Amino acid sequence: MKCRLHSTKWKQFKISHIKKISKDTSIYTFNLAYPENDINLPLGHHIQLRAKINGKHVVRYYTPIFPREKTKELQLMIKSYPNGTMSKYLATLTIGSTIDIRGPFGNPSLDSAPYPLQKEIESYRDALMNKNKNTQHNEEEILTQLGIVAGGSGITPVLQVLHEIVTNPYHLERISLIYANETVDDILLKEELDKMAEKHPHFQIHYVLHHPPKRWNGETGYITKKMLQKYLPCNDKQHKLLICGPLEMNESVLRYSKELGWNKGFQKSKSNDKVFVF
Ligand SMILES: Cc1cc2nc3c(=O)[nH]c(=O)nc-3n(C[C@H](O)[C@H](O)[C@H](O)COP(=O)(O)OP(=O)(O)OC[C@H]3O[C@@H](n4cnc5c(N)ncnc54)[C@H](O)[C@@H]3O)c2cc1C
Repeated sequence: MKCRLHSTKWKQFKISHIKKISKDTSIYTFNLAYPENDINLPLGHHIQLRAKINGKHVVRYYTPIFPREKTKELQLMIKSYPNGTMSKYLATLTIGSTIDIRGPFGNPSLDSAPYPLQKEIESYRDALMNKNKNTQHNEEEILTQLGIVAGGSGITPVLQVLHEIVTNPYHLERISLIYANETVDDILLKEELDKMAEKHPHFQIHYVLHHPPKRWNGETGYITKKMLQKYLPCNDKQHKLLICGPLEMNESVLRYSKELGWNKGFQKSKSNDKVFVF
């Protein structure tokens, strides 16, 4: 039997599937039914997991990877850290194990704030639904190019955005993602990302590896200003930049983007910031 998610009450859910996708990361599928019968989480929203670990309740946030999927299952991609309380515990669970879940929640620091790209996505949807009524857009509001920089498990909220914007017929002409990792085995969902790029030519991915294998033809080292210049859209009224990675990566990308003429971005971003950090 499927359970329903509740925004304030903890409900117990069963793990129905676990797929290991790298040495330390797995996708956990939960037996779940939303009140609406679909997963229709607003983009950028999260759920909370709670577990009793060493006699204490531990609570952590996680980001469903398919926010608006026509499915009744909830999928979370979770990286396990050797010293991580919840993530290490989750790695010990098996199919049939249960865990407490509640949500969804908005941005934890700015709860109930609109999610990134909300305005753009809503205006695209209105335009699509009112196609026959000749809805006019304010040209300046139309987002035409999106640059994204992700590092490691920071790809999780980015995946939500990609599932929403790459496959839908919005006005975007170009979505360019730089995805940085330590080794090739750390790249999460590479096959899925590559397939998405192959199927949707306006979406391009540029991988950067700190420790590349011998025959690697992508970028190497840490992300540089030159890479941003080479692979991402430039600053323009109709362009936007999203960043999601470890603190140090976010800080250097914010610095480079400012040097390349983008607005100054902040670690604690507001949803309508031109340079948005998750
Ligand atoms: C809004 C939001 C959404 C999130 N979504 C996801 C998601 O979809 N998938 C996911 O895997 N995580 C996600 N996280 C992170 C998650 O909530 C936990 O912080 C993470 O799983 C670590 O928790 P822990 O209890 O295992 O580690 P803690 O016990 O909190 O940390 C202990 C140690 O673990 C290590 N560690 C913890 N986090 C990191 C890190 N980011 N980088 C390097 N080392 C670390 C450090 O050694 C740290 O000292 C999200 C966080 C937020 C705020």
